[in-house]
Amino acid sequence: MIVEMKTGAGKEAVDTVVERARSLGFDVQLNLGTDKTVVAILGGNTGQLSTDVFAVLPEVESVTRIMKPYKLASREFRERDSIVSIDGVEVGGKRVVVMAGPCAVESEEQLMEAAKAVKKAGASILRGGAFKPRTSPFSFQGLEEAGLELLAKAREKLGLPVVTEVVDPHEVDLVAGSADILQVGSRNMQNYALLTEVGKSHRPTVLKRGFSCTITEWLTAADYVLAEGNDKVILCERGIRTFEDSTRFSLDISAIPVLKRSSHLPVIVDPSHAAGHYALVPAIARAAIAAGADGLLIEVHPNPEEALVDGLQSLTPTHFTSLMDELRVVASSVGRYI
Ligand code: PEP
Ligand code: MN
Repeated sequence: MIVEMKTGAGKEAVDTVVERARSLGFDVQLNLGTDKTVVAILGGNTGQLSTDVFAVLPEVESVTRIMKPYKLASREFRERDSIVSIDGVEVGGKRVVVMAGPCAVESEEQLMEAAKAVKKAGASILRGGAFKPRTSPFSFQGLEEAGLELLAKAREKLGLPVVTEVVDPHEVDLVAGSADILQVGSRNMQNYALLTEVGKSHRPTVLKRGFSCTITEWLTAADYVLAEGNDKVILCERGIRTFEDSTRFSLDISAIPVLKRSSHLPVIVDPSHAAGHYALVPAIARAAIAAGADGLLIEVHPNPEEALVDGLQSLTPTHFTSLMDELRVVASSVGRYI
């Protein structure tokens, strides 16, 4: 931790900082400039020390952490890329893993039709929401347990692993009963009780980025899952809120290389929720693979015009099939395959 004193701060103020640090068991290194003093607080666990301890002292200009707030998700903690394995499908290796299916499970026919189509086109994981965290309480909330049963049925019939969202810490076991991968949605990225329960489940987990959260906050949230001994975390960039309103959210493409530098966890991209419109999905999906994403999460509906949720951003099976062909070309151009 670095404490920068105000220009011209007196010796008494500097001594107060030094004494405070030493009284808490830390070492101190002083950098006495001509008119500015900088105090480095070292040794011990500064991660648990609040910056306020020093910020409140007289003539302190600023206090900065030099340690990252996240640990287990960091590259320093694990140098090699983590690979999350789901029933033989590896996320984070050479293969780009495509997870696809409807936003919400609506009926057995709809789910089976979507599942067959995405499997045929080359997707290796089926997505489908049974519990939908909707912005309005009056919108369709998902088929809930009946939706989970349909997902389990589709998994059994087609042999495709399933990813589905869990919204309530008390329902983690229930959802894990039908899902191979738990999804923590954007709105719940900082629901720490949910993250802890998902961690305890030891299930592979897709952790979507909160749409108003920084990458640091996202990786710190991942630490909640990792801290419970669940090392199967997959990060999913799905767009963030910016001033731009021509797309539903702004996909932060730079998050991919930034995460690859700062974390060992696999990174996938959801172009559907970022775009908000089916016509924009292919370009974003291609860009994500070119930028180094380990996978994609794409919404596909057999009849988007009849979808109960997110029809406008859903691809038809035909569109999805041709997109997969394009994605194979992009993947091979960056030394990967689908
Ligand atoms: C979803 O994947 O269906 C979803 C609700 O996404 P997000 O949490 O990113 O909004
Ligand atoms: Mn959706």
